[in-house]
Amino acid sequence: MVIMESCAFEIAQQVQRGELSAVEVLETALARVAAVDGRPGALDYGELTDEDQDKVHAFITLTADRARQQAESIDARVRAGEAVGPLAGVPITVKDIFCLKGVPATAASRILANFSPPYTATPVARLEEAGAVTLGKVNLDEFTYGSSSESSAFQPSTRNPWDPSRVPGGSSGGSAAAVAAGEGWLSLGTDTGGSIRQPAAFCGVVGLKPTYGRVSRYGLIAFGSSLDCPGPLARNVRDAALMLSVMAGADPRDSTAATVPVPDYVASIDQGVKGMRIGLSPDYLRIAFPDPNTGEIQTADLEKEIYEVTLRAADVMAAQGAEIVENVPLPNIAYGIPVYFVISRVEASSNLHRFDGVKYGYRTQAAYADLHEMYRKTRAEGFGLEPKLRILMGMYVSAAQYSEQYYQRALSVRSMIRADFTAAFDPQGDYRLDALLAPTTPTPAFKMADIYGDTVLMQYADQLTVPANHAGVPAISIPGGLSSEGLPIGLQLIGPDFAEETLFKAGYAFEIATADEAWRGVKPRVLGEAGL
Ligand code: GLN
Repeated sequence: MVIMESCAFEIAQQVQRGELSAVEVLETALARVAAVDGRPGALDYGELTDEDQDKVHAFITLTADRARQQAESIDARVRAGEAVGPLAGVPITVKDIFCLKGVPATAASRILANFSPPYTATPVARLEEAGAVTLGKVNLDEFTYGSSSESSAFQPSTRNPWDPSRVPGGSSGGSAAAVAAGEGWLSLGTDTGGSIRQPAAFCGVVGLKPTYGRVSRYGLIAFGSSLDCPGPLARNVRDAALMLSVMAGADPRDSTAATVPVPDYVASIDQGVKGMRIGLSPDYLRIAFPDPNTGEIQTADLEKEIYEVTLRAADVMAAQGAEIVENVPLPNIAYGIPVYFVISRVEASSNLHRFDGVKYGYRTQAAYADLHEMYRKTRAEGFGLEPKLRILMGMYVSAAQYSEQYYQRALSVRSMIRADFTAAFDPQGDYRLDALLAPTTPTPAFKMADIYGDTVLMQYADQLTVPANHAGVPAISIPGGLSSEGLPIGLQLIGPDFAEETLFKAGYAFEIATADEAWRGVKPRVLGEAGL
């Protein structure tokens, strides 16, 4: 299928030139959704059937009629000789944590199941202004709290297209699975502790967490406001670069959106890695976990296949002219997860206060004697387990008597993590890195239900992604190879503030250098089984 094989960049160019109609592209994407997705996530989903187990279930809300209107209007504009944007006619999906006017924004939670926002998030508006056609809203962990997408109140939760008995990762699991399965070319996700990069790695797609503030958070339902970053998921590096070019930049509606000019990421993408200093750190080549008896952080070797994929990528980049700098110390990243546990829960509990049954969303149907009882019942019935756990922990570690011991300490260690990166990237320092190369995840995609329920273990799935969130620096995950079980393994490139351009160049160079390798031709299993 020619349309399916084209990337977003090519589709937009053909639509702009009138060689391909946006409606035709959309119908191809909708046919793919019909073939692989199965029923959308729902609150009252009943029993799961055998057929449910083999489908992707990326969607919560499909907006096919709205998409048809968008596509028709793009085709009409092309016919009238009007200019259309750089994403003209490209079908995209949006993680259901962003607002899109008049379309439900559930955050995968019962408490927002009936919420239809009166405005559109800035990154979504910019994508649509650039001509992107929104297929619908895709599933995630409830309020983005998780690494497997299983905690969604809307079931069946998303499956991994490479093996539907495995999770797609999370929390942007619906986004990554949709892109991997060809249900739209691009997806808008969010990354607070790894939620774009970890699912991108699990599903064999590209995902970028931009520099904090690079993309506006206006219209994003907040998790951790000092960590949240909207970002692109795409099939290849150039499409991710194109998508970021459209979304990034200052926004009068978000004062934390950076005013740093946005480069044309696509124009420079093929400049290669020659002369780049790319670092390897022993601290990213091992895993860290708390000793259950003492609570002290222990370290252990990385899984062999993950280690080998990472080192091989360093060889590939060296062969392209990069200088590999070994033994870059980042000693404080081992504390990334404990620090994240504290800071993200404090911010989550604060951000969840607004869901009280008054302003929007669910309100208890039960009888209540006074306002407080209405709040209590609404929140008890509306929130799932994970938001409740995060509220409890966030309130506890920021309470007056514990704040110094936990929250203030976590903030200090966060600064130390940031200082590790600053030293590694310092142009006058010992290492002078352009980027760091690391694995994205400690393991490939795990089986559904294997980790779900163990909050600590689930959180440790993000240990290699979370340091970049603490530091605020950009990081991209790109496919690096397949495991012996045929599961995608992700590679991460991390750069200094606003170095997205460097990450795209390096990622693209790796993609081109490995384009003809056998693993690149292997398709996700659900596509093969559907004869696609
Ligand atoms: N998995 C992490 C968490 O549970 C990260 C989530 C995210 O990045 N939104 O908090």
